[in-house]
Amino acid sequence: MVVLKTAAELTAMRDAGRISAQALLVGGEAVKPGVTTAEIDRKIHKFILSQGAKPSFLGYGGFPGSACISVNDEVIHGIPGSRVIREGDIVSIDTGAKVDGFNGDNACTYAVGKIDLEAQRLLDVTKAALYKGIEQAVAGNRIGDIGYAVQSYCEDAGFSVVREFVGHGTGRELHEDPEVPNYGHQGRGPRLVPGMTIAIEPMICQYDCKITQAKDGWTVKTKDGGLAAHFEHSNAILKDHTEIMTRFWDDPDFDPETFCLK
Ligand code: MG
Repeated sequence: MVVLKTAAELTAMRDAGRISAQALLVGGEAVKPGVTTAEIDRKIHKFILSQGAKPSFLGYGGFPGSACISVNDEVIHGIPGSRVIREGDIVSIDTGAKVDGFNGDNACTYAVGKIDLEAQRLLDVTKAALYKGIEQAVAGNRIGDIGYAVQSYCEDAGFSVVREFVGHGTGRELHEDPEVPNYGHQGRGPRLVPGMTIAIEPMICQYDCKITQAKDGWTVKTKDGGLAAHFEHSNAILKDHTEIMTRFWDDPDFDPETFCLK
């Protein structure tokens, strides 16, 4: 069941979105050669608590971290731990914060120092695909319009789209209806209406889209060992426009030091 949000509920979701985005920036700042993914997670955890919010992911389905941190061939759901980040890695961080009963959810793949050209292209295409999807996420369109935009853009660039994991509605529950696949057909699927809040999150692979689950029961990796990237925003469908509630992690005017607009 899709839960539409009232104006008051959208106000709470804006706070959750902003704190989630700030937490992602905190994570991005911490990504440096020599740090462990556990150290990055600790900083994110501390920041979310400092904002009077709760990490949405901690304990969700038993997940042991406050952020999902997935490196190189890891697509999503990486458990923070003793893995050391190295120059040339790509590091996907997914953060969520819950405040006043509502969740925000967002992700970004960060480059560590100098990465190779193909890795950079994967990051650029996946991030651009996120915005191609958001462009289609307007009242009156259908869920399939989002998936089609993401899929066609990424496949035209020679990359592939993960099928087993998808975007989702978000609100009081981290994951709500509808599912928001990164693939699909124009004009198909549930219609987007004002008050819907959906997380759009392309998970894109360098080579084949087949995935495998690591022995830890969480980490999702590419089967062929190719790289994967993941970018995500939480969005509110409004009557006349769509608001990217987690836009701050990608706003050049947003100062991660002061958490204010410059
Ligand atoms: Mg999500």
